[in-house]
Amino acid sequence: MKKILKSLGAIILALGPIISCSNSADMTVFKNVNLVPMTEEKIVENQTVLVKGDRIFKIGPSNEVKIPPNARVIDGQGAYLMPGLADMHVHLKGDWPISQLDLYLANGVTTVRDLDGRDFMLKWRDEIEQGKRTGPTIYASCPIIYGYEKNAPELVAKRKSGYDCVKLYSYFARDDFHKAMQTAKELNLYTVGHIPFAVGLDGVIAAGMNEIAHIEELDFEFIDFDRTIKLQPDEWLPYIISNAAQQFKGFASIDGGNIKAKQDRRFATVIRKLQSANLPVCTTLVIGRVIVQKLFKPNDFLTRPESRYLPQKYKEAFRQGKEKHQIQFEGIKDAAHFKYNLEIMLLAGLHRAGIPIVLGTDAGTGAMGIVPGFSIHDELRILTENDFSPYEAITTGTVNASNVVEAMTGRNDFGTIEIGKRADFILVNKNPLEDVAHIKAKRGVMAAGEWYDSAYLQAAVSPGLIPGIPIVGNVIYVRRPDSGFNTEIEIIIEDNFSGKLPDDIDGITVTIKDPNGVTRPLMLPAHRYLEQFKDFWYGIEGPPALGKYTFQVTGKGLNGTATDFQTVNRTIPFPDINTFSPAEGETLTSKTPAFSWAMVEYPDCEIYYRLVINDPAGKRVYSTRRGQNMLSHTVAEGILKPGKTYQYKVRAADSEDWVEMQNRSDSRSLTFTMAKKLE
Ligand SMILES: [Zn+2]
Repeated sequence: MKKILKSLGAIILALGPIISCSNSADMTVFKNVNLVPMTEEKIVENQTVLVKGDRIFKIGPSNEVKIPPNARVIDGQGAYLMPGLADMHVHLKGDWPISQLDLYLANGVTTVRDLDGRDFMLKWRDEIEQGKRTGPTIYASCPIIYGYEKNAPELVAKRKSGYDCVKLYSYFARDDFHKAMQTAKELNLYTVGHIPFAVGLDGVIAAGMNEIAHIEELDFEFIDFDRTIKLQPDEWLPYIISNAAQQFKGFASIDGGNIKAKQDRRFATVIRKLQSANLPVCTTLVIGRVIVQKLFKPNDFLTRPESRYLPQKYKEAFRQGKEKHQIQFEGIKDAAHFKYNLEIMLLAGLHRAGIPIVLGTDAGTGAMGIVPGFSIHDELRILTENDFSPYEAITTGTVNASNVVEAMTGRNDFGTIEIGKRADFILVNKNPLEDVAHIKAKRGVMAAGEWYDSAYLQAAVSPGLIPGIPIVGNVIYVRRPDSGFNTEIEIIIEDNFSGKLPDDIDGITVTIKDPNGVTRPLMLPAHRYLEQFKDFWYGIEGPPALGKYTFQVTGKGLNGTATDFQTVNRTIPFPDINTFSPAEGETLTSKTPAFSWAMVEYPDCEIYYRLVINDPAGKRVYSTRRGQNMLSHTVAEGILKPGKTYQYKVRAADSEDWVEMQNRSDSRSLTFTMAKKLE
């Protein structure tokens, strides 16, 4: 049953006429392949591999293994079957112009670990497993615990089940860090993180953190600064950089060899400490390389083939010089070379000392320019340019990644081609153990037993799908006590559209592909245009049909496409206005008025609340983020004007992410007035 569902999932996602998985046979067979098992450095020639469900079922010489009569057969014709790759440090987001999940699959990445998890990723994970969505296997840390939260150590204990590990960030005070780590140990939770500035490598090792999230975290071990100083989170980096600038004389004329000569003893100490702790380190070296490119060859950066996939907003910020690293390295561009050289030197040291190195790229945040999937090939290349054999480099993204997952979850489930392991493969034309670049030329990818041939993968990330008109589309099941409409379709035109809104948009169509793979157009009623949000809004009576929605917009000879899924309709109760404070008609005297409400009773999923305040004409004056279990909010001074009347309501939804949200219920609006004199 599971297998059939997964095939349907692939059909739902298939683009145009290319359908990868019309065969619903229970078994897939790869015959005549050269196996790259990654159990040791070897190629086993002319093998046949049987896949049943999502597992490897049988492996043997092609002239011995019998092919079951109903199996789907993929003739390898001498191609190389290797394990799929894992990117163990990513940030999944829903707002990229092409689905990140497709970018990963198209690049042979069949496993990702998100290191700042959100509930919608757990939902993606489950949907991928059930065949309702295509993508790599997902592991996720809990949302980052930064260390400056009022109750940072307690957050470890409060983290929700379903997440695979705990991510700790840079801003922990020493005591808090030790308390947090102690809790994690008591609860048997895997911890991965930055090296907090106040703690340092010694402290992290002493507390028993399980993994370091970036090689770049070790950079700070080479800079002298006062770890006991009391600083605000945003003051730490400038403080350390100014110390480093003094210590390394403005970073001028410093190359790797020079650092090493000056810092030899310290270097050896750092490596020795990591070695005795046997502490895995995730690479993410591509960040340092891309920073150098962004600062010194910005045009090369923008014209990389994969840059077309970056979010429009990011590229705009980059062109205006307002991108994260452009700001961070302003006036100290040389520090970028210094940083990257230091990291490469550390990589070599870690490698020589046999410290477990785990492949990761930090792709996907939308703030750094690291493109999901493509970055894994850059990361592998950086390793092989620095003394790793192709086999050793691939090990970091297969065997070592799976070892880390075993430490997190107890299951060593992928990374080698062995019976019982998850069927994650890349079928490549040439031997990847000769050159990691060979991994890019592939015939297809199998992720958890689901086969995608290269034509399908290419179509899924086709540049033609990237909108000329950047849009986001959303379908939500909205329950509103004061309106008959239930299904809301919204299409927001993002910033860079060159035309006039709404006049220059001349066509909007929405199609829905149902779970049986049948596509039909959705009949749209007249829209409303919400100027404030550049939002074309449609209200349709009744709950939405389940399936994949595709939104298409044309105007000024351009077009834009976006998609959204509706996989479940939920009847979330209305927030009860009888529990609200202020009550209907109240006059508020505080400059910083507080609003509160009771939670809705809905045990099936996490509920996120949002407070929305409008003027009497219905125009949005203020709204909060969507907060999980948020039951009160204080509005800052100056937003609500003395003597004015407003309306407020509370929304309860099943996601904090607007596009990921599928269901919402809104309270009725209550009216309140701000007193003429506020105190
Ligand atoms: Zn990250």
